Amino acid sequence: MNAASGKAIVTGLPHSGKTSKLIERFLHSLKERPGERRVVIVPDASHRDYLRTVIMQRGALRALRESEVLTLAEFLRGIADEAGLLDGRRMTSLEELLAFRRIIHGLNSAKEADIPLTLSAARQVKHMVEALRNAGLFLKLLPGNEMPRLPARGAIALKAAVRHLWAMKASQRYDGLLAQELAVLALQEGRCRELLPGLILVDGYYDLHPLHETALAAIAPNARSFFMTAPDLPGSAQAMAFASALRRFGLEEILLEKPANSAVKLLGAVAEVKAAETFTGVAAVVAVQAEGIELRPLPTYIKEAQFIAERVLALHRKEGVPLDEFLVILRKTDARFVAALRHHFREAGLPLIDLTDSSESARAARFLSSCFTFAANPGHESLQRLVHTSCPALLRPSHALFTFLRRMGLFLDAEGMKTFARDNEAEVFAALLDRLVSIKGTDKGNTEWMRNLLAALGREFITALEPHLGDAVRNPIELAREQAALESIMEATASLVGEEMDGDELPALLAEICLYAGGSSRELGAGGVYLVDALAARQWQKHVCFVPQADRDHWPQGREDLSSDEDALRTSPELAGVRLRSPEEHFAFEESLFLSAVTRSTKLTVVTYAKREVEGNDIAPSPFLSLLAPAVGKLGGTTPPAHESSFVSRRALMRHCAGALRYGESAEITKEAAAGVLAMTGNSERASLFARGGLEAEPVGQPFAVPEALTPSSFSPSALTAYRKCPYLYFALNLVKPGDPPESLQEGITPLAVGSAAHEALQEAFAGFPDKADISGIFRKRLAAYAAKCAPLDFPLELERHWAVWEYPLRRAYESAFERLIAGRAIVLKMEEDLRADFADTEGRTCALHGWIDRADKMPDSSLAVTDYKTSDMSGFSSKASEGGQARFGVATAPHIYTMLAAAIAGNDVEKAEFSYHLLRENLKVTLEPAEDTIHQEDGVQAIVESLARSITGIRMGHFPRAPHSSCVDCDECEAYWLCRRDLFGEPLPNEVEERFPEPPFKLAKEKLE
Ligand code: SF4
Repeated sequence: MNAASGKAIVTGLPHSGKTSKLIERFLHSLKERPGERRVVIVPDASHRDYLRTVIMQRGALRALRESEVLTLAEFLRGIADEAGLLDGRRMTSLEELLAFRRIIHGLNSAKEADIPLTLSAARQVKHMVEALRNAGLFLKLLPGNEMPRLPARGAIALKAAVRHLWAMKASQRYDGLLAQELAVLALQEGRCRELLPGLILVDGYYDLHPLHETALAAIAPNARSFFMTAPDLPGSAQAMAFASALRRFGLEEILLEKPANSAVKLLGAVAEVKAAETFTGVAAVVAVQAEGIELRPLPTYIKEAQFIAERVLALHRKEGVPLDEFLVILRKTDARFVAALRHHFREAGLPLIDLTDSSESARAARFLSSCFTFAANPGHESLQRLVHTSCPALLRPSHALFTFLRRMGLFLDAEGMKTFARDNEAEVFAALLDRLVSIKGTDKGNTEWMRNLLAALGREFITALEPHLGDAVRNPIELAREQAALESIMEATASLVGEEMDGDELPALLAEICLYAGGSSRELGAGGVYLVDALAARQWQKHVCFVPQADRDHWPQGREDLSSDEDALRTSPELAGVRLRSPEEHFAFEESLFLSAVTRSTKLTVVTYAKREVEGNDIAPSPFLSLLAPAVGKLGGTTPPAHESSFVSRRALMRHCAGALRYGESAEITKEAAAGVLAMTGNSERASLFARGGLEAEPVGQPFAVPEALTPSSFSPSALTAYRKCPYLYFALNLVKPGDPPESLQEGITPLAVGSAAHEALQEAFAGFPDKADISGIFRKRLAAYAAKCAPLDFPLELERHWAVWEYPLRRAYESAFERLIAGRAIVLKMEEDLRADFADTEGRTCALHGWIDRADKMPDSSLAVTDYKTSDMSGFSSKASEGGQARFGVATAPHIYTMLAAAIAGNDVEKAEFSYHLLRENLKVTLEPAEDTIHQEDGVQAIVESLARSITGIRMGHFPRAPHSSCVDCDECEAYWLCRRDLFGEPLPNEVEERFPEPPFKLAKEKLE
């Protein structure tokens, strides 16, 4: 890269090597003229960090001076510093916000516009002022020696900008932008030339706001050597405007050779589409692909996330693309999408490095913020928020509290809440309310007093929170995070000391500062798939890039800077000569950002968009897709093959295997291989693989020989019950294991986790029998452990709710069972154990019966009582029990098998073993008793044994007709219907099992345990 003048604008298409040329130049200077001062200037910190790494790698450098790669803002601030252009101290970002808050307070027009005195309003005004300053306002105001006059009319942003300039001059404090503005003015006037490095390289710009354009225009002629890259994006109005701005620098232009890659072809096609007279900006968006690019509409954002995770996995595994060569580019951080992406990446075992700013405040920050919001504005909303953030540290809500909150709703007030809290043993929370309510009677403007209160509340909260901060591994990390948040809140509020503050405003301001300063730090990592925002992505280049959420909500992003004040500003005479970005220019900017995003990859770009919201509403595609889709069509676009996700292809394999086993081996797969595949696949995986679809086009009436490898040698009650319900159902459930797919993200604590925690708690409690245990405490501990394993979501209230719902029934159930054991002088023989016993089928072949019992007790007379705990809602179960109904038990084998197993391990007769369900919620004992009007119990037992043996023989013989048991399974509601497709086959088979099974010679009896 040579230029006769030593200065040039280097232009080229994406991937033409513009940045590489600059790096070569930099390394050449480093090697040949080590004493030379040099700098690479880039637009933002992410590009700076990226470029530092690349330069060090390319030059095999061990270190690189920080001052040699800088953002333009850092570079200009450095010049202002060195030249002594600034007096006083730079403000912190909170001080800046407080300064704008004061400005809003003093502006009549802001009062008329009802702008609130909050930090978020201050932040918005600050952005508006920055937009004006970036457009060159202060370059116009600063050269005069006099203080600029406040405009007589004009928009709030303009008045706020002038006030801000006054305030900075008067207080000898400055912000980051003022340092840049002063440096630009000095450079414009030809001062500070000697401070410029000999070699200045500028990279990564796609656009320039006027302040930085003026800065570079002043630097370029004064530097000894100056090279700046400029992208060529055919079809982008923004890129054309940028190129013509750079031309005004009057530098030589070096046009890099056009690379022959897919990104260039795509941009060419985009330019053609735009130039075509037929282009209206509206086009139907369909799935289409061409070399290096794919466009995929998907049903919802969840499917987009799943699709990306699966494609990354497939490309990584099959084509060896390294994980750090994937990039996911977002325009606007959408917390729901990022959560879905994290979920699916975790499911696929893929690391995801999130470089978007999605930090969330620490819990202490949220709690403190809600305290001061309540103090400033005691009302039902702020009180409810306080209740939520206080859980579980300072408030462990009972079921009664939830009922109270729900009932009180809009009428909730502090006094009522305090009384209720005291009545319900929530003294800590009542005392907190007392303290917050008492703020009213104090001098609310006393900053020092209020800071002390804030610190005390924060410390108390963290101490109380500590036991609830997850497991032993997470606890110290979380605790450190909470403490760091409190420290930064205290540091931030230090700047309030000495501030003149209206007493009523301080609590509200503190509430905002807590959230502002109490954010969590971002986690950085290496060796994973990167998630970056589109602005930062302009400098990245990776093998494969995904651009998800290409819908109208995300591309283009709405303007945030001047939007509310724009019209008034446009007509303001004070802004003559200041260039403001028009809505059209903003759209062009967004479009260039999108075109940049879709040309970041060197191998493949995949653009996805969701067609509808999860709730069902349609989502319009981004207008930029109307440009991209026809451009991909011009490149010979074809319809991409249906997404062969690993999920789908694995399911196809499994289905093939199930078919081979059922109907004999095919040319593709032998029975042994099919049996091997099925045997290797875990139950849960089979469940999700077979959630949809089934064995289609199945020939009727072919025998199914179950291969030896898959023939069970032991049988559980649930398997045999399924066989008795319908033999085909057994086939479906036990060979294919259908289940629900992960349709949506599972959040929070599942009923399964609650059930498991209750079982484990009872097991632990009875382990020490006859010593009595604290069942509530054990259950809390067990459930908290399950909650900690869930997605890292914040659901203390949910946890509290489960505790509140279960604590009493569980204690009642435990205590009544305990008392009965003591009264009956029984001992606990077995708990949560898989019992086994030999059994013979009708052919005399031996197998095993097995069943997982919850508890078996031995009585002094050696008889046994086997108990099965039930945590699910069993209202139907108990009402059937009261009617003595048999529908459900007509096929149930658990009571029989459990009593047989218990008798076998104790060496007893079956008659000396009793089985019962313990319905924990209702504290009901449900037992099978001999029915008076049926055959004798002994015959009944024999009949059951025989029918079990016949069932096992049926399974071993591969006898699986579609034969539903009429009274206990309805085909239309059958969970295996999708696989069975019984309506295709018209097999009017009677349930032979039903015929062979006698009417159960038992009836159900229920007993309340108190
Ligand atoms: S749909 Fe009917 S026949 Fe088919 S498995 Fe289910 S119960 Fe049996």
